[in-house]
Amino acid sequence: MAEYFFSSSIADKVINSLRMKPRILAFDFDGTLAPIADSPAEAAMPGELRRLLENLSLDNNTVIAIVSGRRLSELEQMIRIPSIIYFGNHGMTSSVEGFGAGREQLRKWSDESSMIHEKILCLESKYKGCIIENKGPVISVHYRKVDADKVKELGSLVKEIAGEHDVDLKNGKMVIELKPRTNFTKGTALSEIALKRFAGWSKDDPFLFAGDDNTDEDGFRAMKDFGERSFGFKIGDGETSADFRLLDGEILNLIKLII
Ligand SMILES: [Mg+2]
Repeated sequence: MAEYFFSSSIADKVINSLRMKPRILAFDFDGTLAPIADSPAEAAMPGELRRLLENLSLDNNTVIAIVSGRRLSELEQMIRIPSIIYFGNHGMTSSVEGFGAGREQLRKWSDESSMIHEKILCLESKYKGCIIENKGPVISVHYRKVDADKVKELGSLVKEIAGEHDVDLKNGKMVIELKPRTNFTKGTALSEIALKRFAGWSKDDPFLFAGDDNTDEDGFRAMKDFGERSFGFKIGDGETSADFRLLDGEILNLIKLII
């Protein structure tokens, strides 16, 4: 079990490591930097956190990355900090040329997801509160506001539609995602950043990744290859391969300590 970071006996040592440069600081967005909102469109980073990340991103020896399940263009628009590396669709798309999947592949997947979207959209009117997002190659079915006794039924209809296509089903927090069958994950995203050696970063240098949900586990696992100054932080409860655990909203406290 990952121990709660701020009561760990090695917290000070980890903080000192994360202050060293060059360093990579990578974050999931929803539930990690931005509190989970009622609908995906309402999510926003607290102002103080935004200002800190903006300042950090201006430091040439600190690489900031945000690795999200959201559509890339939407993520960039929500955050609007230019010198950050963005990954969307769980590592499939990126603001950096050469990262993630190729254009041709993305187009094929997006064609498939548009077909799925047409079929699945009727569930929005059938299940009150259900929000369906077409995020390029990924379709998200949000059920946070759906009646609890209807969720199972909704889930099996989603599974049925998914079964007619070449996609995997992934469960997140109050969301079911239909993703193309691919090896791209948040883990491959982090590995791509590590391999690129931005700012001269090498395996002995600090690498932080924080996330709150199931898809972030791919990231935590990938980090095991990165060296002894790489640390995974799981926000909130649940099984995890991360090194440490933080409570909701505490990422801000951690960032303040490592500036
Ligand atoms: Mg998240």
